[in-house]
Amino acid sequence: MYLKTLTLRGFKSFASATTMRLEPGITCVVGPNGSGKSNVVDALAWVMGEQGAKSLRGGKMEDVIFAGTAGRPPLGRAEVSLTIDNADGALPIDYTEVTITRTMFRGGGSEYAINGTACRLLDVQELLSDSGLGREMHVIVGQGQLDTVLRATPEERRGFIEEAAGVLKHRRRKERTLRKLEQMEGNLTRVQDLTGEIR
Ligand code: ATP
Repeated sequence: MYLKTLTLRGFKSFASATTMRLEPGITCVVGPNGSGKSNVVDALAWVMGEQGAKSLRGGKMEDVIFAGTAGRPPLGRAEVSLTIDNADGALPIDYTEVTITRTMFRGGGSEYAINGTACRLLDVQELLSDSGLGREMHVIVGQGQLDTVLRATPEERRGFIEEAAGVLKHRRRKERTLRKLEQMEGNLTRVQDLTGEIR
């Protein structure tokens, strides 16, 4: 499995559609300060479901949409597509190539698609969760983040390891199931009350 192409449209400083073709192995992005190198990394995190505006170096989520320049008006939407080569079947999906797309409209939420079919954020997270490209994005190490790891408490460090080992996915499934169970118990109590009243 490797990242094959990344396409940005209206994402941060990338107003026009821009596609980067990546090869297996190491890819370096070079350029002057402020030319958009970190924006490429932000796009990677964003398309994989990043939910924190701060992690994307913005104040609010909409800040990822091209805000305009002196010569170009702002855009109404941002879109990023990431194509992953899955010839080795590392991702649990029956395709040799998987394209994840995330779109955001000004004033609206995000839309996700896997190979062109609309899906939920949860589907993207589940697809990637065993690949090491997990929800907590420990595969993306931003400037100054090493410091955070070094200064983390033992509990936080355990979280990093659990994410890398794929344990967190099961912990979250368990949390979702427990929430549903709680809801069901509430419904059951309500039904019991109603049947009591009918008798
Ligand atoms: P450095 O080497 O200094 O870290 P860099 O190449 O990583 O720089 P980035 O931080 O990726 O640069 O890009 C910063 C540029 O992106 C700034 O010029 C900023 O104005 C622009 N930018 C960020 N968000 C938007 C947006 N929503 N719309 C338009 N431009 C944006």
